[in-house]
Amino acid sequence: MLQPPATVTLADLVAAVCRFRDERDWAEFHTPKNLAAATAIEAAELQERFLWKTDAEVDQNLADAAKRAGVADEIADVVMFAMLLADRLGIDLAEAITAKLAANEQKYPVNLARGNARKYTELGGG
Ligand SMILES: [Mg+2]
Repeated sequence: MLQPPATVTLADLVAAVCRFRDERDWAEFHTPKNLAAATAIEAAELQERFLWKTDAEVDQNLADAAKRAGVADEIADVVMFAMLLADRLGIDLAEAITAKLAANEQKYPVNLARGNARKYTELGGG
């Protein structure tokens, strides 16, 4: 089993996921449409882990090591397909995440958004 190095960067993980793809010669199947669909399908698999359960039941499940590992697997699937999609589109994930976080900081100023779940259009203040 692969073990992440003590210090692993986002770029290291993207490179590892792309290496996994390339060793299997799968890039030809990784069209943007297929990768977007795969990301959404894996997100649905993640949701399925929680479907029909109360928050208390979810917490109980997550205390079970095997069930927690299953959730971790699905999260990893979502992130890996998103990495592959970004790579396919030539999008630098670190730049994209940094830019999106900066945009969200503008949309959700701490003084207006802290402690509530309102959408930015409902925050008022400007
Ligand atoms: Mg999966």
